[in-house]
Amino acid sequence: MIMDKKTPAKQNNTPGIEAKMNPRPEVIKKGYRSSGKLGGKVALITGGDSGIGRSVAVHYAREGANVAIVYLNEDVDAKETKALVEAEGMNCLLIRGDVKKASFCKKTIDDVLKRFGKLNILVNNAGMQVPQKDPENIDNKQVEDTFRTNIFAYFYFAHEALKHLKSGDSIINTTSVTAYRSSPHLIDYSSTKGAITSFTRSLATNLAKTGIRVNAVAPGPVWTPLIVSTFDAEKIKSFGSETAMERAGQPSELGPAYVFLASDDASFITGQVIHVNGGEVVNG
Ligand code: NAD
Repeated sequence: MIMDKKTPAKQNNTPGIEAKMNPRPEVIKKGYRSSGKLGGKVALITGGDSGIGRSVAVHYAREGANVAIVYLNEDVDAKETKALVEAEGMNCLLIRGDVKKASFCKKTIDDVLKRFGKLNILVNNAGMQVPQKDPENIDNKQVEDTFRTNIFAYFYFAHEALKHLKSGDSIINTTSVTAYRSSPHLIDYSSTKGAITSFTRSLATNLAKTGIRVNAVAPGPVWTPLIVSTFDAEKIKSFGSETAMERAGQPSELGPAYVFLASDDASFITGQVIHVNGGEVVNG
């Protein structure tokens, strides 16, 4: 499970990593009932093969949306998400590729339009992290890869998506608690998350008059493949214990926040961040 710390998150991962996690992450709570909140909508979710993105895909499908998911190379995880979406009676388009490339992001939006004829919700969620205790070990390549994946790609997707989004549609970005309370071993990663929060606020106020809303979710520690593939055994053992609830969250506890922000229930909410973090009180 634990990978070479120099390896960017999941970039050489074992396929089907989520299925091998013990305990398996919970994707959606047993009692989650649909209210058809996203009926007839089409969503694109980057990093939708596993973890938080998979949970969002399944919640969106249960709420009546067709989904497309982007993933780097985790074919087994992606196929499992597709099966989960289809089990909800909705369609799932799998798009494999590297979000660091602007041309791939553009082609992805074209593919979604070709397959579903429209796009209503963009969830920018793909991310990577390479923990480093010593800032001197963060080399230029790591900085560049982290920024290209975690924030440049959010711009690329938003840029292309905005050609198709209309009033009532929305963009939801995944930031992180690390943007609000720092993370000494994730300096580059937390910097990108701070950028995502600012990106969310500025894009939201720019677009407010169009009726397109832009918001974000800031997860605290969540039990996903990103964690087991990047942190060492000691960190994994105590993962989440620093929260007020003294535990990590499950992806199933994140998905509903993305449903709310994408739905008409959030019609007066833009430029905001929902903190789903087990009780850490943060400023902003
Ligand atoms: P995850 O490993 O399940 O998902 C990360 C996804 O990003 C993967 O599906 C992977 O395919 C995709 N990805 C990474 N690099 C890519 C690339 N270059 N091109 C295309 N896809 C790429 O982990 P997760 O924890 O669900 O992560 C989802 C988001 O949540 C990330 O933005 C992460 O920073 C954020 N987040 C996670 C936690 C946590 O504790 N798990 C906390 C705060 C924020």
